[in-house]
Amino acid sequence: MSAQQPYSFFHSVERSFDKAAKFTKWDLGILEQIKACNSVYQMRFPVKRDDGNIEVIEAYRVQHSHHKAPCKGGIRFSDEVNQDEVMALASLMTYKCAIVNVPFGGGKGGIKINPKKYSEYELEKITRRYTSELVKKNFIGPGIDVPAPDYGTGAREMAWIVDTYASLKPGEIDAAGCVTGKPITQGGVRGRTEATGLGVFYGIREVCNMPEVMKKQGLSVGIEGKTVVVQGMGNVGFYCAKFFREHGAKVISIAEYEGAIFNANGLNEEEVFAHRKATGSILNFPGSENLKINTDALELECDILIPAALENVINGQNAPRVKAKIIGEAANGPCTPEADEIFAQKGILCVPDMYLNAGGVTVSYFEWLKNLSHVRYGRMEKRFNENMNMQIIKQMEDLTGKSVGDAQKKQIVHGADEQELVHSGLEETMITATREIMDVWMSNPEIPDMRTAAYVSAINKVATSYAELGIFP
Ligand code: NAD
Repeated sequence: MSAQQPYSFFHSVERSFDKAAKFTKWDLGILEQIKACNSVYQMRFPVKRDDGNIEVIEAYRVQHSHHKAPCKGGIRFSDEVNQDEVMALASLMTYKCAIVNVPFGGGKGGIKINPKKYSEYELEKITRRYTSELVKKNFIGPGIDVPAPDYGTGAREMAWIVDTYASLKPGEIDAAGCVTGKPITQGGVRGRTEATGLGVFYGIREVCNMPEVMKKQGLSVGIEGKTVVVQGMGNVGFYCAKFFREHGAKVISIAEYEGAIFNANGLNEEEVFAHRKATGSILNFPGSENLKINTDALELECDILIPAALENVINGQNAPRVKAKIIGEAANGPCTPEADEIFAQKGILCVPDMYLNAGGVTVSYFEWLKNLSHVRYGRMEKRFNENMNMQIIKQMEDLTGKSVGDAQKKQIVHGADEQELVHSGLEETMITATREIMDVWMSNPEIPDMRTAAYVSAINKVATSYAELGIFP
């Protein structure tokens, strides 16, 4: 809480929930049950630093909802970690999973450390100890609670977690499913790196394919030729820019913390990335114009604005100057509630983070399924499909007397590999979720924005799940 922000993070999530709950038919009791955090585990454990000193580490794991098992959510390493934040993030995970039909309850974990201040060996000790604390209290497991990377953690930490878990649970056949975001060699899945950026692209593309929505925004249907501005060239921003460009959109501006660049004819993110690597900055990219203040990019005339860097970058102050027709919240919380109100007045469509950046958790779900089935996606059917497709082509060639060219034959015959299947599953997930949210929104003109519609969609699904369990008659 602060002078500017009178509510705790968890309380503001509750407020957004309450705003949406008004548009549902559920009893107060069921709504209260959905909002509440089911289990909160606060722990303290000692770690011996490299200099011999003992430090007491503060850490958390929160399981917000047990309406589905397991719970799912990242683990962050940050100085800022506190119980309220972990509870808020866990509850957002419940709603996010529900929206994209990933059958998990929400969870989140956090260790209150700045990882930059610890050696790799110390980080390994902390991560392994944290995992064994979770095991002791039955707070981790493929059917209980499945962590993933978040701020300050990555594949390395996930590998330590799975190794610790497996060594404490000898013979547990599904041990690899106790955590996602693992390296491929430790049971990870291909296609996770680009998942969030690709999910953002699929979500926005689906919105752009809806004629009635595009008419309202004064835009033509489809992605082709749309102008796009991307803030942040990290993992999410880079892949957003890549997929928009590859599908015929023009990325006219890219912003990083050192400034922004503009080219009305479109930028190639791979070349910009290489230029930044070589010079240390995206500025002075050949053929583009520098915008000295990076936030100027947010106010450019464009069809689609993708904030993919930080929270609160579009707020009550700059929202009146935003000229984009659609905002795709790739980052978590880039637009404030004040900005939402301004977008509603200006007719800007804000596609909310809670569903738009759910590509990571969706592909985590695919990784978990892979771990439980103990087989790589595509292994069983790839060759079979290729042989069948080849037979079909041969029959067609025999019947028509014409032969299919080699390049075309290769394309038709080709059986899908793991990455292609993961992309396809993600595409299906994002298209379905977009349509479900739009249906909720269109069915009730009182719902003020797509964010509220996304919450309504989540509440309805979680409540139905409780009702079907017979907990609430
Ligand atoms: P990242 O650290 O890889 O990239 C963030 C980029 O933003 C960096 O290149 C950084 O230099 C840039 N940046 C920082 N300050 C900036 C500023 N003021 N102006 C312009 N650029 C600035 O992080 P990421 O994984 O790409 O995550 C970006 C956002 O997406 C975060 O809000 C994150 O919570 C959210 N998100 C990420 C994932 C994921 O799978 N990585 C999933 C869901 C949500």
